[in-house]
Amino acid sequence: MRIGVDVGGTKTEAIALDNAGQELHRRRVPTPQGDYDASIRTIGDLVLGLEELTGQTGTVGVGIPGTIVASTGLVKNANSTWLNGKPLEHDLSAALDREVRCANDANCFTVSEATDGAAKAFHLVFGVIMGTGCGGGISIGHRVHAGRNGLGGEWGHLPLPWATPAELPGAPCYCGKSGCIETWISGTGFERDFATVTGQSLRGHQIAAAAADPTAQAAAPAAAALDRLLDRTARSLSMLVDILDPDAIVLGGGLSNLPQLYDGSLSERLSTYTFGGTVDTPILRNLHGDSSGVRGAAWLWPLN
Ligand SMILES: [Zn+2]
Repeated sequence: MRIGVDVGGTKTEAIALDNAGQELHRRRVPTPQGDYDASIRTIGDLVLGLEELTGQTGTVGVGIPGTIVASTGLVKNANSTWLNGKPLEHDLSAALDREVRCANDANCFTVSEATDGAAKAFHLVFGVIMGTGCGGGISIGHRVHAGRNGLGGEWGHLPLPWATPAELPGAPCYCGKSGCIETWISGTGFERDFATVTGQSLRGHQIAAAAADPTAQAAAPAAAALDRLLDRTARSLSMLVDILDPDAIVLGGGLSNLPQLYDGSLSERLSTYTFGGTVDTPILRNLHGDSSGVRGAAWLWPLN
């Protein structure tokens, strides 16, 4: 049995998978805010609760909204800031009396989709979470590539490539810089861009719906906003393909539900921006949706 725990900003979820990847049980509790010791206890209680329910013991993987630096074992870059600077993996391993593996939540998403999701046929997979923010992760042979500094896949905080004068300097990002990819190709960025150009506030799904309906009042500006989103996504992914050239790219997060990401125009634009002008990298919609984070945490202990 494999147990995965996904520590989110407001909810912490745990899942137990059998060895075939079938879900046995799932539990969800509020994330303790600002209290590291309570976080350890909450994760421990979730794991032990699932083991009691199933009558089995499992391996434990934990997805966190940050990363663990290999050289120090300490968490950094977590927006659940009370985890930063803490030896989370070490403390969870001690609390649960077994080796616990922790990884960035975007890496967990990618491993989930590469293991038994949309990208399971592919070896080197890049996963993108286009949600409130924009995170990336790398899976190689179903294993996380965290990197020396724990920064593998942190593509969302690179600057938007080929930014036009109108796109500079870009909105401030929480990381301290401005104009990061995350500030453009995220739900927040999409809505802000539409509001900046039109003076109207619409949610991402409303913009997408208006873009698909020629009779909608905001049809033209919505279609233009969607076009800008696709173009910025293609520019950003082209840089990734030029460096990593993954076997597949899989998209997750709320914004990844836009059907226009998969109708061929994003792929076409990706080719345009990539060196040489022709690439055939599949751009896939995730299979496991919101469950990918917690499933990927469980798959931090792979089959082989
Ligand atoms: Zn940033």
